[in-house]
Amino acid sequence: MHKKLFIPGPVEVTTQSLHDMGVPMVGHRSKDYEKIHAFCVENVKKVLYTDKFIWIGTCSSTGLMEGAILNLCRKKVLSVVLGAFSDRWNKIAKANGHESVRLEYEWGKAAKPSDIDSKLSEGGFDLVTVVFNETSTGVMSPLKDIAGVMKKYPDVILAVDAVSGMAAARIEVDAWDLDFILAGTQKAWSLPPGLAVAAVSERCFKRAETIEHRGFYFDLLNAKEYAAGKRSNQTPSTPGISLVHALGRQAERYSRDLEAHWAKHVEMAKFVQDWARDRGFELFAEPGYESLSLTCIKNTRGISVAGLNAELGKRGYMLSNGYGKLKEQTFRIAHMGTMTLTEVRDLLLNVDDILGFK
Ligand SMILES: *Cc1c(COP(=O)(O)O)cnc(C)c1O
Repeated sequence: MHKKLFIPGPVEVTTQSLHDMGVPMVGHRSKDYEKIHAFCVENVKKVLYTDKFIWIGTCSSTGLMEGAILNLCRKKVLSVVLGAFSDRWNKIAKANGHESVRLEYEWGKAAKPSDIDSKLSEGGFDLVTVVFNETSTGVMSPLKDIAGVMKKYPDVILAVDAVSGMAAARIEVDAWDLDFILAGTQKAWSLPPGLAVAAVSERCFKRAETIEHRGFYFDLLNAKEYAAGKRSNQTPSTPGISLVHALGRQAERYSRDLEAHWAKHVEMAKFVQDWARDRGFELFAEPGYESLSLTCIKNTRGISVAGLNAELGKRGYMLSNGYGKLKEQTFRIAHMGTMTLTEVRDLLLNVDDILGFK
């Protein structure tokens, strides 16, 4: 039996999107592909409120995280670390030979713009990495305000992992003047894994021009040459054409009523948060910074999360245990993308039934 996925990626994919992927193949140097690419870019831009360059990478999100480090860092990175994925940015920076200074928070806490400000004021940094929505802790950091701090540091680029937040929460890339913000298809885009997208500012291209060795597969300047340079609406190597097609369709569907799309996520998040509190659980996230796309619940009632998931599995559902060291101490319910409140309610009715809550 298929288990409906309430885990924070890969998430459930609608049959509509599976159909979108099932179109006949085209050559990646053909006009047909260019049309697919252009449609995808045009609609992703709408969802992100941007006219900036959209980088489509055939890789998981981690690929474009590495791409950011390769193309944007010359000197020293400030890594804002508050969970497993923000720690990954720090590891990628170090793996590429860069000095990376950690601005560290306890898991469950959000990044504070004033802390980033005071760290940057020490000088020597040229890149800051943050995670907008920390999937391991269910914390959403105040991205707009963090971006506001960056105005004081025009020579420092802000790179944002918005993997589980993009297309779930409103992110106004141009109005907030974001430099580099990325996500993969298997989170709130509600598509199979395999593709990553990023909005990229002019400042990023200027920086990349000053870096001699940007690697090959993730060379941002080469990506631009193919997408909006010597060629247009192409990629340097063969892209995941089926996913580019499906992403364009999904972005177009979301863009038809973005207000309703954002409101739905707020509603689903509030529903799960209320359910948890009402059943005597606590939320793991610092109050005021709860994620809109997944809820991380402290297991204050001492249930067996693995046991619950096994029972849910028999009924065709799957939620997520805590991440890494938070296993059994927390559990996570994802509510993003094409997921609806009805489906979330359905899951929780089953959880109530299994745990004898009612
Ligand atoms: C899922 C996730 C990633 C990693 O994505 P991959 O597709 O596995 O590379 C990175 N950051 C966050 C916040 C995520 O949720």
